[in-house]
Amino acid sequence: MPDPSGFLEHQREVPKKRPIPVRILDNREVYTRTSAELVKAQSSRCMDCGIPFCHNGCPLGNRIPEWNDLARTDRWGAAIEQLHATNNFPEFTGRLCPAPCEAACVLGIGDDPVTIKNIEVEIIDRAFDDGNVEPRPAAFATGKSVAVVGSGPAGMAAAQQLARAGHSVTVYERDDAPGGLLRYGIPDFKLEKHHIDRRVAQMEAEGVEFLCDVNVGVDITAADLRERHDAVVLAVGALEGRETDQAGRELAGIHQAMEHLVGANQVAAGKAPFAPIDAKGKHVVIIGGGDTGADCLGVAHRQGAASVRQLDLYPMPPADRDAAKDPWPTWPVIVRNYPAHEEGGERDYGSAAAEFVGDELGHVRQMRLSEVTVDKSQGRRDVVPVPGTERIVPADLVLLAIGFAGTEDQPLLRQLGIERTRRNVIDCGEDWQTDAPGVFVAGDAHRGASLIVWAIAEGRAAAAAAHRYLGGQTALPAPVAASAQPLAA
Ligand SMILES: Cc1cc2nc3c(=O)[nH]c(=O)nc-3n(C[C@H](O)[C@H](O)[C@H](O)COP(=O)(O)OP(=O)(O)OC[C@H]3O[C@@H](n4cnc5c(N)ncnc54)[C@H](O)[C@@H]3O)c2cc1C
Ligand code: SF4
Repeated sequence: MPDPSGFLEHQREVPKKRPIPVRILDNREVYTRTSAELVKAQSSRCMDCGIPFCHNGCPLGNRIPEWNDLARTDRWGAAIEQLHATNNFPEFTGRLCPAPCEAACVLGIGDDPVTIKNIEVEIIDRAFDDGNVEPRPAAFATGKSVAVVGSGPAGMAAAQQLARAGHSVTVYERDDAPGGLLRYGIPDFKLEKHHIDRRVAQMEAEGVEFLCDVNVGVDITAADLRERHDAVVLAVGALEGRETDQAGRELAGIHQAMEHLVGANQVAAGKAPFAPIDAKGKHVVIIGGGDTGADCLGVAHRQGAASVRQLDLYPMPPADRDAAKDPWPTWPVIVRNYPAHEEGGERDYGSAAAEFVGDELGHVRQMRLSEVTVDKSQGRRDVVPVPGTERIVPADLVLLAIGFAGTEDQPLLRQLGIERTRRNVIDCGEDWQTDAPGVFVAGDAHRGASLIVWAIAEGRAAAAAAHRYLGGQTALPAPVAASAQPLAA
């Protein structure tokens, strides 16, 4: 029985952020820990709806009303059981997910939605504090062996599920540490890396072997992999950066966003003395208005940039849901403000680079930009400059955060005989199997660049399919929303 008046008594309240002047001096997480009292008050706003649309909005099918009520009534041990039943890593999603569940929350029709992801993160943080996150090794071994290539959230979720089903699992990762984009893409101020290390330790205690610094297809061949293992799960991400062809692209000082973020993350991890791409004292222009651009913005401020400007092709979206275009419970197009945006910088909406202008040494120093409109009427995206709006802005460092062009064309895929689709991703059948028998795919490698929650959902689904392929006697749980069907182009 939910609290019948919680949503009348309590307004939505999210955790506090550390003060801007303090937080930009370090790389630690922006949000402070929530008190149990606040979480209990917030979870009492949940109405335990007859049809919980939040549950449907979540790709993992998280049992949100159940754990909301358990948190409200101080039953934290039971709450983490419910949370872990559908989500291997709530500490990642609770910190980083854009929360489609909250966009679908019934309370959001006439009020502010329940703070679902903050409740989620408090449940898992308390579970770790209380010693309620123990390794869960399988009761017996199946004698089968699985290789997981890639250790992002999709690979980690697949590996944990398969190990718990009794298979011997080896995760191969070409980076020097597991985590995928969580490790070297997403900055510490969004996710401190000890969260990943703690899970890796749990998984190792469950029998998962992590082999880092191994580029499969280069350091070992696909044939070796096939010989050592009975099945393979490809969770290699969609890491091919999108390019731009504006005049002046060849100038020094213009980089892919990931080059900037990886270097900064390595410094934060103490693995490099300085970042190869440092914004200190520079006028920075970030091209791209999404998540990756916001992460570059936060890093540039922490590095001491002189100024930061972020360009977005599209006009500024509305602050609130446009019910005619994006009716509840769909995901609304609204302006997304990340903590990095509060820390400074300018945002130019409906603007694009026309040309990069360099100095006599071939280094970018300025950018010519103009206002633009985006025309999609011909079925493609035509960016049309608005005459008379051109202007020059300073630009010593330009970061391209314009998305990812899909899974890299890498030796491993050629060795396995797998062709990428027209969208540069890896296709599979209903059973998550690629064109190579016994080779499964999950996460961004299958969906194209997406979200952590989808990566975990697909990792779980591919693990369930691989388990069936290996003759597993019991069914592994898999989220209903994760579909192996190719996504529309
Ligand atoms: C800067 C940035 C910020 C983001 N912020 C958010 C956010 O706030 N919230 C959110 O939900 N999502 C966010 N995302 C998206 C999210 O990180 C991805 O959707 C998610 O990490 C995909 O998981 P994955 O496991 O499929 O792939 P990845 O995390 O990309 O992992 C793939 C791994 O495979 C490894 N690999 C590839 N080929 C090989 C090989 N041949 N041998 C060995 N290893 C190999 C790679 O090194 C990599 O570690 C962000 C993405 C970026 C780039
Ligand atoms: S939709 Fe919102 S109010 Fe309803 S059960 Fe889910 S979280 Fe609670």
